[in-house]
Amino acid sequence: MILTEIKANPEFEAQLAKMGGADVKMCFQCGTCTADCPSGRRTSYRVRKLMRMAQLGLKDEIVDCEELWECTTCYTCVERCPRQVPIVDIVIALRNIAVAEGHMLANHKPTATNLYTIGHAVTVTDKVKEQRKAIGLPEIPPTVLMNSNAMADLTKILKATGFDKIVE
Ligand code: SF4
Ligand code: SF4
Repeated sequence: MILTEIKANPEFEAQLAKMGGADVKMCFQCGTCTADCPSGRRTSYRVRKLMRMAQLGLKDEIVDCEELWECTTCYTCVERCPRQVPIVDIVIALRNIAVAEGHMLANHKPTATNLYTIGHAVTVTDKVKEQRKAIGLPEIPPTVLMNSNAMADLTKILKATGFDKIVE
């Protein structure tokens, strides 16, 4: 993309600011974050580039890029950024915007569906029950799985936040 083709995107800027990413403006593109990012050593993810894309308002490109999900939230970049940009907060804000608008990776969908349907991201299989029993734990953990009122509350929260529409 030629930089002169990029138009300001004040709506996205406001949306990102509302979600906690206003300080992306502080980034002066030194590249320290990318140089230190352990994920970037193994993937095509470049955190400096993501910050620049956010500054430029490239929302469509950001919500559709797989690299958005390659940050492990290890916080190495946050510790080393000379401008104290809250990089992880910005990555999470960008992810929240992407998911709220229906951009969820296929691999994430089953996990999100589990959370909505049973209240757990990971299912408690028969094997897990056996393992729990073997170390002296109840087969079913004392979570929403044991408490229908808590599960009902969780369902209400997920519906109120629109999570049900994302997994449907
Ligand atoms: S280290 Fe901070 S200032 Fe430097 S490119 Fe990364 S986010 Fe921007
Ligand atoms: S928090 Fe994410 S972007 Fe920052 S260094 Fe770790 S993996 Fe890279």
